[in-house]
Amino acid sequence: MGTALPPARTILARGLRLRCPACGGHPIVLRWFRLCSSCPSCGLHLDRDEPGYWLGSYTVNLFATEGAFVTYFVAALVVTWPTVPWTLVLWGGVAVGLVIPFLIFPFTKTLYLAIDLCLRPPGPPDLATPVERGIPKPVAPTDPRRTR
Ligand SMILES: [Zn+2]
Repeated sequence: MGTALPPARTILARGLRLRCPACGGHPIVLRWFRLCSSCPSCGLHLDRDEPGYWLGSYTVNLFATEGAFVTYFVAALVVTWPTVPWTLVLWGGVAVGLVIPFLIFPFTKTLYLAIDLCLRPPGPPDLATPVERGIPKPVAPTDPRRTR
């Protein structure tokens, strides 16, 4: 894969569908709370090789949860006005605040990756074969005929 990316709307749609935002490859979600280290199709390093990279996805998760809470709260007020059951609205808000972050967790990770790719397109280091720390880089086999 080269570094040419599709339009931003395609990148964001792929992220919301839990696919690699760069190429559309999948699966990149191993478990609900864990992504692959690299895309199986294009090799994009999903954490962009940056410590703390996913803090941005937590911000996306927080904003989405706050949006869900505000939507819930306004809907509860509109539906029940003028006799608002405040205790029920309170506990419903607590439930929204506790459940939504877990429900949207992988979506916010891939969406954050998509937003980041729109702002910072991947370069060759983002697609290079990952190397484990402490393990030397693989060496290409040499042709025995050339050493003589
Ligand atoms: Zn990919």
